[in-house]
Amino acid sequence: MPVSIIDSDKDHVGPFNRLSASQVNTWKECPRIWWYQNKLRLKFAQTPPLFLGRAVEECVTRVLLESPGLVAKNAPTTVMSGGADTLLPLYDDEIETDLRNWYSARVEAYWPDICEQMHKEWEANPRKGGNWHDYSMEDYQNMCVTALEMHFEEVLTLQKSISDGELADWRNGKTHQIRSPDRRTQSGTHPLARTGDCHIVEAWEIARPWFVDPDLEQFSQNAIHPEYWFQGEYDMVYRHNSKIKIVDLKASKGVGDRSGNYVEQLKMYAMLWSKTHDGEIPDSLEVWYLGVGKKKKIEVPNIEEIDQIESEIEKLWNSIKGQDVGIEDCPPSPSALRGFSEGGVQIDPPSGIRCDMCEWAKLCPGGSGNDDYPKVESYQPNGQMKSYSLTNIEDLIPRISMHCEIFSITQNGDDPPSILIQKDGGNAFIKIISKQSEGQLTYDEGLQKGDLVRLVNVIPSTNWKGEIELKINPHARLVKADEPEEGDIGLFDFKARWNFSGRVAYTTYKYGIGKSGKPWVRKGLVLLNNNARVTVEGWDNSWPPLYNTLQQGDEIVVLNVSLDAWAVDVKANIEKNSSIYRI
Ligand code: SF4
Repeated sequence: MPVSIIDSDKDHVGPFNRLSASQVNTWKECPRIWWYQNKLRLKFAQTPPLFLGRAVEECVTRVLLESPGLVAKNAPTTVMSGGADTLLPLYDDEIETDLRNWYSARVEAYWPDICEQMHKEWEANPRKGGNWHDYSMEDYQNMCVTALEMHFEEVLTLQKSISDGELADWRNGKTHQIRSPDRRTQSGTHPLARTGDCHIVEAWEIARPWFVDPDLEQFSQNAIHPEYWFQGEYDMVYRHNSKIKIVDLKASKGVGDRSGNYVEQLKMYAMLWSKTHDGEIPDSLEVWYLGVGKKKKIEVPNIEEIDQIESEIEKLWNSIKGQDVGIEDCPPSPSALRGFSEGGVQIDPPSGIRCDMCEWAKLCPGGSGNDDYPKVESYQPNGQMKSYSLTNIEDLIPRISMHCEIFSITQNGDDPPSILIQKDGGNAFIKIISKQSEGQLTYDEGLQKGDLVRLVNVIPSTNWKGEIELKINPHARLVKADEPEEGDIGLFDFKARWNFSGRVAYTTYKYGIGKSGKPWVRKGLVLLNNNARVTVEGWDNSWPPLYNTLQQGDEIVVLNVSLDAWAVDVKANIEKNSSIYRI
């Protein structure tokens, strides 16, 4: 079924090391794109259609959660917040005779808020690209209605073709083992069950596909291959008339090379379904292009083809995830562009090559870049006596561990305690940014003054008063410990300032309004070498004018920055005495 329960003892792969259909497709497009985007985690520009596509999916699934037999077309969008079991079925004269009016009205109710929320998310994204106002919100709202029209075709087909047995089972309360999201928790006879022929309201309920619940975290409903190396999240799975249909929703017209990926993606999903359902092969695979209202049927692979897809993905996992890979294992080797017209209809391929439209062309030898990353070991800025020694990006160490004593501790109710530690004749503040990580507290409970503790993988920095702060985020811990461990360092042994060089991949930009009402802007850069990446970030006024001239592929030196980290990403902070130079 769509969601897999993981036996973590047997999961040798782990949640962050599985392949997905998009990674497999990226690898096939060009191994070097995979290197940039998956190994170095470079983000392509986050344009409005990416966010609007998510908005469409959310709006459609919110309406699919509802029932025209329970929710009036003009009901508020909070109508389901108490669950569907608390709603009384509508009287027949309250039910829309034409459900098209009902779902169009429900889209109209949901769309403005969802769209506004996505606009905010896009605005807050430091890697946003494009212009929100270049896109017609009305077009995207219409795509939601189109998706529901396409769903309604399934409902009407079901109403005409449902067997007496399936209808009776549903009326008697039989459900799928994993229910389609409908906000019901009760079992037994369905409150919308009737007698006689299948009513349209019943058909809506029975046809409801499994889909990604919009109230659950993104990518939390993955299906996982039994051997753990592949995962995927189906958009919708229809499961009536003893038939399985997997559907992928696309808020687009289906034109261009990318449509080829969707074909491959659905074939991979057929494999995934089969391998997680005792060999059952889905009956149909469809991409729904909402921009043109077309359902594109994808040929369902047979058992031999499914086995072949499985073995290809496993082989790929072994070569790029099961072992460490370097840039040389991911050659600039673009595949030919594919041609598709509206509705994902295959046509002759366009002229030109993939590198012409590649976002990484100025970094890559396939475009105007190269793989000759200069090894700069030291740098002397023009006109300065001092020469700075530089650290390789992959050798930047933002985290430290140390053994120390709690000097003072103040409990703060449900918030993390305020802690001051002492070591080597000095003090440092503990700044607990993340109280929990993977469901566990990041610090031991019951800590007291005088306890001996280990700070594990904390991030050291100095604040504007020159005081040392040790930050605890999800990858750090504070635990009681009588003894230090190997690698623990002293309070004054960490390196506070770092220098390095790197090639510009792209710039980032964030802004907002602070608590005091003052606007703020933070600008950043993502730099890379042939091995690793680092994000450099600072307040708008900390950057020299050079920042505004930087382009992808420029080589720069960054001097005198402090380090920070989030998860596996290393971040450098541009501060008052930091500087950057083009080399
Ligand atoms: S520029 Fe060409 S070779 Fe390089 S990553 Fe892009 S598609 Fe691949």
